[in-house]
Order: sequence, then C-alpha cells, then structure tokens
Amino acid sequence: PADHAAFDLKAHIRAIPDFPKPGILFYDISTLLRHGPAWKAAMAEMAARVMPYRPTLLAGIESRGFLLAAPLALELGLGFIMLRKPRKLPGPVIGFDYALEYGSDRLEMQADAVKPGDRVVVLDDLLATGGTLAASVELLRKGGAEVPLVATMVELTFLNGRSRLDVPVETLAAYD
Ligand code: AMP
Repeated sequence: PADHAAFDLKAHIRAIPDFPKPGILFYDISTLLRHGPAWKAAMAEMAARVMPYRPTLLAGIESRGFLLAAPLALELGLGFIMLRKPRKLPGPVIGFDYALEYGSDRLEMQADAVKPGDRVVVLDDLLATGGTLAASVELLRKGGAEVPLVATMVELTFLNGRSRLDVPVETLAAYD
C-alpha cells in the first residue's frame, strides 16, 4: 500500500554469510526488531496484509515466528498459538513430520490448540524452500483448522517455496 511505500524494510534486515553453515546467506531480522520505529512499521504492514483473511487465531513457528505472531495477535485482538519443535509443549500434542534435505523434522502443537472452524494465519520470519510452512499448514489441518494465509517478513524467491504451498502467501521483502 502507498502509505507504507516510504518504509524500506530491506534497510533493516541484515544478511550474514556462512551462517549457520558455509554457503548459507542468513537473513537476520534482529536488526529490525531492535529498531522501534522500523519494527512498528513492519508490523503495521503485516497487519494490513493479514486482516483481509479474517483469521480467528495467529500461529507462530518456533522461534522467530513467535516474535511476529504474538505481537500481531495482541494488536489485532486475536489468540496466539505456538507451533514448536518436538517435546517442548506440555500435555497432549499433535505432530507433523516433514522431510529436510538431510533427515527430517517435526512440528507440534497442543492437541486442543485449534478447533474445527478456526481460521489460522501462520507467521514465520522467512520463506525459503517452504518445507516448514507447508508442515505448519498440514499440522493445523490435522487439528481441524483452516489456514487462509501464511505470511513471512522475508522470501527467498529463487527457492520457489510458494510452489510447495497450497495457500496464499504474503511476504514483505523478496530476495532473488
Ligand atoms: P524452509 O522450510 O526451507 O522454507 O526454511 C524456513 C525456515 O528456516 C524458517 O523458519 C527460517 O527461519 C529458516 N531459514 C531458512 N533459510 C534461512 C535463511 N537464509 N536465513 C534465515 N533463516 C532461514
């Protein structure tokens, strides 16, 4: 939207080469989060992108997704739920296993986190191959929820993560 066009999100995101391993260019949102006005502007833009999808809940993917979904949920007056690494959540959980380049990973949520009819928008810091967000969508569906949208601050367009997702995707800063 035009009223946010003056805000240059990319100026507040830092790229760190060879982290966490050689050959990976890590997009670091820490510099955004520690700049009050920039963080606020980014969250306002995210709110504008998310609201039209009329979520009933926001979900954050551990751990940087929490930093976006929790404050946005509070701002929008919505509940917030955590999608976590295995064995972090107390009580009964539902999990979804997904393949990585080497090996596999798993996301879990509490079994009573969602109910049928919930519309849950998922937030994370970055869309790369889309594997993590695709798993989050499947996990939420397993719990009976609908996922009208997934949203991230950063998108690595050259990895074509969108092609792995069967839901709309909103991202604020694209890199190719
Ligand atoms: P993917 O499942 O391949 O889309 O990877 C997305 C997840 O891995 C997100 O939770 C990101 O936090 C993290 N991630 C992957 N690649 C990067 C990167 N280049 N910079 C920062 N985080 C990344």
